Amino acid sequence: MEDKKPTTLMCTVVAIDHTNFCYRVCSVCEKTLPDNNTNSCKYCNFNNKFNPNSCSSKRLFRILMSIATDTKVVVVIMFDRAARVLFGCSADEFFDLAKLHPFAAVVAGRFLEGEMLRVTLSKSKNGNAQHDRVVSVVPLMSGFRPVIETLRESYGVRARS
Ligand SMILES: [Zn+2]
Repeated sequence: MEDKKPTTLMCTVVAIDHTNFCYRVCSVCEKTLPDNNTNSCKYCNFNNKFNPNSCSSKRLFRILMSIATDTKVVVVIMFDRAARVLFGCSADEFFDLAKLHPFAAVVAGRFLEGEMLRVTLSKSKNGNAQHDRVVSVVPLMSGFRPVIETLRESYGVRARS
């Protein structure tokens, strides 16, 4: 029998997939927008016929991460709320930084490699998703700093106020 309850475990970050770390959603209803049309949301247009231009898009984190537990290495998927803990910013802010500094995502991955985390994982509800989902994440090393802080420091960028 499959255990559907979330499990909490200690792990270290082996790697993150820096090639594809975010996706776009409608900033009003947060439904995923197709890559080829991120300017209008069919859900909002449908519900809001008289003001179809009222929505815009924003990015949310969606990151594949390999973690090593005491017994194995697994790939898990981390969505916006958990990823923000590690990145310390929104996906849009990170994307803006990465536009100016093309290797920001690669460097971010390197910063995170070896970090010790306590993660809570849950199986997907529909049962056909490939990867367990990170529900929450707590960095365990006392000196942990969110990725964006270290990146801004090394690029000499001031934080947006
Ligand atoms: Zn929408």
